Amino acid sequence: MNKQWMQFAERVKAMYGNDFVPLHEPTFDKKEVEYVTDCIKTGWVSSVGEYVTRFEEDLAKFVGVKRAVAVVNGTAALHIALKVAGVEAEDEVLMPSLTFIATANAVSYCQAVPHFIDVHEDTLGIDPFKLDAYLSDISEIRDGELFNKQTNRRIKALVPMHTFGHAVQLDELVALAEKFHLVLVEDAAESLGTYYKGKHTGSFGKVNAISFNGNKIITTGGGGAILTNDVALADYAKYLTTTAKVPHKWEYVHDEIGYNYRMPNINAALGCAQLEKMPAFIEQKQQLTVKYEKLLEGLDEVRLFQQPKHSESNYWLQTLVLDESLNRDDVLAFLNEQGVMSRPIWQPMHELEMYKECPAMNLEITNMLKLRIVNIPSTPIEGD
Ligand SMILES: *Cc1c(COP(=O)(O)O)cnc(C)c1O
Repeated sequence: MNKQWMQFAERVKAMYGNDFVPLHEPTFDKKEVEYVTDCIKTGWVSSVGEYVTRFEEDLAKFVGVKRAVAVVNGTAALHIALKVAGVEAEDEVLMPSLTFIATANAVSYCQAVPHFIDVHEDTLGIDPFKLDAYLSDISEIRDGELFNKQTNRRIKALVPMHTFGHAVQLDELVALAEKFHLVLVEDAAESLGTYYKGKHTGSFGKVNAISFNGNKIITTGGGGAILTNDVALADYAKYLTTTAKVPHKWEYVHDEIGYNYRMPNINAALGCAQLEKMPAFIEQKQQLTVKYEKLLEGLDEVRLFQQPKHSESNYWLQTLVLDESLNRDDVLAFLNEQGVMSRPIWQPMHELEMYKECPAMNLEITNMLKLRIVNIPSTPIEGD
């Protein structure tokens, strides 16, 4: 790697004032300590407690949906979102191949089959125009439901994912879902704080999922939530994630196979404190992009990924798109060795052992991007 790259690494370390810069670290202060301590002092650390209700209400308000159901992690949120959206065994679910493993795994937990769709270079998410042409070709509507003519399976849902906090083309995808009789379920795990045409991501689909893992924009330690405007579905999701127990003062009666997916109170306490900081976090994340633009001056072989049209992004992970002339692994080896933690984008789902037999469209953009994307340190810097 040349002198410009060395200079870039030095500038990143100087910006963070550290010889080793992690990819993404959580930010805590007195509020987190106060709320978590409150749980410990009162003994309300586990599955019941007022922070869970408060977190769900605050979150629903922040996102602009009627209801939020807090659960143990984003994967569980996605699993239940798909289930209450009506995904059943042997259904196919359309999703990008370029995503984190959780999206595909959640589909598998429903005994359904992921069906991989290509992404658009400008959004890093599902390409609606390519999808439209593809579905017109391979599927047909029978009795109001979409079927894959090749596999004869029902195609039930469409799951876009907002990569690194950049919104996909939601208007087009909402219209496609309608045209092809699909339920839309957003994997908004990475996009808390991201708006599409002024409306928060995770509020467009019928049921949607979000994550609060340690590396996400805000964290509850581990956690996730199901978001929806459908009150009946929210109630059903709450019931399924709390062991499908029939409400009763003392009796244990369960009338369906449920899940113990509820978020503990102590995690929700952390979440309440973190959520209060969201406006500041987003501001700092957007500022970080401006700073990186400056730090990258002189490096012509890369471009800093900028929010696509109509997306007001949370910039969860800062993203470099490398020129074809650069070898991604050389860049990763160099930056990590310099103490600037960097990571490639995920290996696409269609290449993984357990998913390589799944139906897929032509994935040329996915295959091109997988070798050209590098995430660089993205922790918000306070005091800006
Ligand atoms: C983080 C993430 C999830 C959920 O992750 P958990 O670690 O289970 O909270 C789901 N989908 C995507 C795209 C993610 O990045």
